[in-house]
Amino acid sequence: MTTLPPSRYNCPVETLDTIILGGGISGLGVAREVASAGYSTLVLEAGTCGNATSNNTLRIIHGGFRYLQNFDLPRVIKSLNDQSTLIHELPDAVQPLPCLMPLSRFGMKSRLPVTCAALLYSAIMRANGSPLASPHIVSPEKIHSTVKALRTNAPYGALCWYDGVMTDPGAVTTHLTNAITSTGGSIRERTPVQRIEGGNKSFTVHTASGERFTAKCVVNTLGPWLGSVQIPERLAGFRPRWCKGFNLVIKQQLDPTYGIGIQSADGRLFFCVPRGTGTAIGTWYLPHPDISVAPTVSEHEIAQFLHAFNASLPEAGITKHDIAHIDVGILPMDRTSPAGPQLIAHERIHECEGYIEVMSTKYTTFRSQGRRVAGVVQKVL
Ligand SMILES: Cc1cc2nc3c(=O)[nH]c(=O)nc-3n(C[C@H](O)[C@H](O)[C@H](O)COP(=O)(O)OP(=O)(O)OC[C@H]3O[C@@H](n4cnc5c(N)ncnc54)[C@H](O)[C@@H]3O)c2cc1C
Repeated sequence: MTTLPPSRYNCPVETLDTIILGGGISGLGVAREVASAGYSTLVLEAGTCGNATSNNTLRIIHGGFRYLQNFDLPRVIKSLNDQSTLIHELPDAVQPLPCLMPLSRFGMKSRLPVTCAALLYSAIMRANGSPLASPHIVSPEKIHSTVKALRTNAPYGALCWYDGVMTDPGAVTTHLTNAITSTGGSIRERTPVQRIEGGNKSFTVHTASGERFTAKCVVNTLGPWLGSVQIPERLAGFRPRWCKGFNLVIKQQLDPTYGIGIQSADGRLFFCVPRGTGTAIGTWYLPHPDISVAPTVSEHEIAQFLHAFNASLPEAGITKHDIAHIDVGILPMDRTSPAGPQLIAHERIHECEGYIEVMSTKYTTFRSQGRRVAGVVQKVL
């Protein structure tokens, strides 16, 4: 993304209402809500905004259809609302993406249960004013003639639904930073925070370069770096276990139009998303026990990924020479299962004496998360 001009690097001297640590999507989402409510707000970001985990996603803006399998209706509604708003607010950066998932002959992914889920989802979409088309079943014949990658993989047809895809993540970041600064908020990039002192609505935030800022409320949206800043012990919230997630971005376009969801034999879901002239395939999760180590992806892990993916979609026949790029990031996980680490399902918000920690697991819902955290800030102030 482009560097913010120096005029935005206001250096507030008085006690601020809120300091937000971390300028990923979570921090920017909170800062926009808090600044637009009229509170003095400063974001302190170690690097440049939106360039860490938030820049390594599969870029899907989920509509929440998949959460129906756990009957998690609040999460479906939250995702749908946030997706609709983003598509409406940023039509050039977030676009509808038709997606296909082959049906199975029996079980939860066969025609009858999937049709029932599609009807329920359509009703929720209509009730929540989603601008996207309703999900529907596509026949095997149509798939065979139109989607080369699924020619032999959808003998029972496929479900077609709409998600959103971020065609320009940098534009989403810029949209938020502009909204924050235009409502009086400040953003400091290249300003790593080292420690926080105080409590009871009176905090001093120390940066690595020796600067100090004071605020009544501090919001920690440091993502995987949540516990890396020194704070008084009594203020700390829940510390999760962590996993790394990675996507392989390959040079070939598996399909120019559709996102394609493929289930592997061990229950992992591979999602293939058109990206420019190639395809991003993800997300493969593995435990990442030592959070202080930056995540990398080994040759062995790439080989495991390709083996499982090619077994699930033999037509693709991807080799390591097809890989153009790897997106990798760290996320909080709940537990491990045969299908790999399972992420924490919902964001977690912890507040103590005006110090707030936010643990996020999805980019998609940054807007509703920002609103919820702003509500907590408002109560503190
Ligand atoms: C491979 C992968 C694929 C994904 N795909 C999707 C997807 O398709 N759709 C979806 O909705 N979600 C997806 N996610 C999840 C999504 O990326 C995250 O939930 C979201 O980006 C987390 O944002 P964040 O702001 O909490 O963290 P981050 O973006 O990591 O932000 C934290 C910020 O804190 C800054 N920081 C760190 N230390 C300090 C310090 N000491 N002082 C100041 N600043 C500091 C960092 O530089 C960083 O900018 C994916 C995640 C991964 C890893």
